Amino acid sequence: MKINYSTMTEHLGSSAVREILKITQGKDIISLAGGLPAEDFFPVEAVREAYSRALAGETSALQYGLTEGYIPLREQVAARLTRQGIPTDISEMLLTTGSQQAIDLLCKILLDPGDAVLVEAPTYMAALQVMNSYRADIHIVQSDESGMLPDHLEEQLRTHRPKLLYAVPTFNNPSGATWSKERREQVVSLCRRYGVLILEDNPYGEIKFDDSADAYPPSLAAIDRSCGEDSCVVYTGTFSKIVAPALRTGWIIGPAELIRVVAKAKQAADLHSSTIDQRALYELLRVFDLEGHIRLISREYHSRMKQLSAELSSRGWEDAKFEEPRGGMFLWLKLSTAINTTGLLPFAVEQGVAFVPGEVFYSAKPVKNAMRLNFTHTPPELVPLAVGRLEQAISQYSQI
Ligand code: PMP
Repeated sequence: MKINYSTMTEHLGSSAVREILKITQGKDIISLAGGLPAEDFFPVEAVREAYSRALAGETSALQYGLTEGYIPLREQVAARLTRQGIPTDISEMLLTTGSQQAIDLLCKILLDPGDAVLVEAPTYMAALQVMNSYRADIHIVQSDESGMLPDHLEEQLRTHRPKLLYAVPTFNNPSGATWSKERREQVVSLCRRYGVLILEDNPYGEIKFDDSADAYPPSLAAIDRSCGEDSCVVYTGTFSKIVAPALRTGWIIGPAELIRVVAKAKQAADLHSSTIDQRALYELLRVFDLEGHIRLISREYHSRMKQLSAELSSRGWEDAKFEEPRGGMFLWLKLSTAINTTGLLPFAVEQGVAFVPGEVFYSAKPVKNAMRLNFTHTPPELVPLAVGRLEQAISQYSQI
């Protein structure tokens, strides 16, 4: 039978990272491609005990639950966010199946085909995929190393009258960049002035390489809340990077009125996220030193990033450039403009190393000579070998 798909499916595209992960599976390939946390640091024992407590005598742990999420877990998340400078009431929150679902639901309730959305470039590929699926009209706001450029943002706000601005202002995926406090304030203030919602996607913000309390700027959500009424920032977060992605638990914070509409969309999508996973997370957070765990993985990831950085610097590749990220999971490497990283990838896979070519992170005018390197997943002892293989691939590519 010939299956007639909806027009929406034509705009779904396919995730380049998933395609790359497929190629690399089962082969002797060191993958710097996926955004995977280090498995050695998953708190397996604590998670096992948490599931066991969640199931002990509580048949409701296997029952349907509230669309908005398990109330005690929402209270724990709200308390953490409040401590992080985002005062949150549970009526302003909904738990989602990963923060990916939060992005999808928000776009679903806000965007009609042709509605304008503003993004950074480069930006999170799977958010672009969602926006494309709803046939949004995506426009780029130019940025420098401190974040979006306010003048260009204002021009884009005026010209396109967008419904939404999407950004990952802290340890961006893929660039690793973090916006300055001043830029954050300017972006929030401009979006408030033009009545445009901001989706601040913050899956990496807690993975900080500098321990000092004032090393990092506040979130857009914290700035927004401190400005009083008429909140314009909707904030998404996740347990994927700080506990484990398999728990598929994220959250969305926004005005109670918007959360009620998101809840309707979520009901249509999956009724609610897994009851047992939410109960287990609640049990985990009750006894597990999550803050200590985050400090532990952040220290480890910092050391892995430093190692990759040193390894790349030692190679002296012509015109190669990168900035060390101050947190998160990715390093953005730019090579000589003579190299197209999409063309380089097959050579790299042949040599036994994988990365994500930079161009997939652009909605338009892609930069062709960049790549995203993940430094959290590869065991440190393999990093010199991975970079050596990349060097071989660059050398072969340059000879053709
Ligand atoms: N946003 C960004 C920027 C991400 O990098 C990711 C994970 N790759 C997500 C959202 C989704 O994460 P999850 O659904 O696992 O919470």
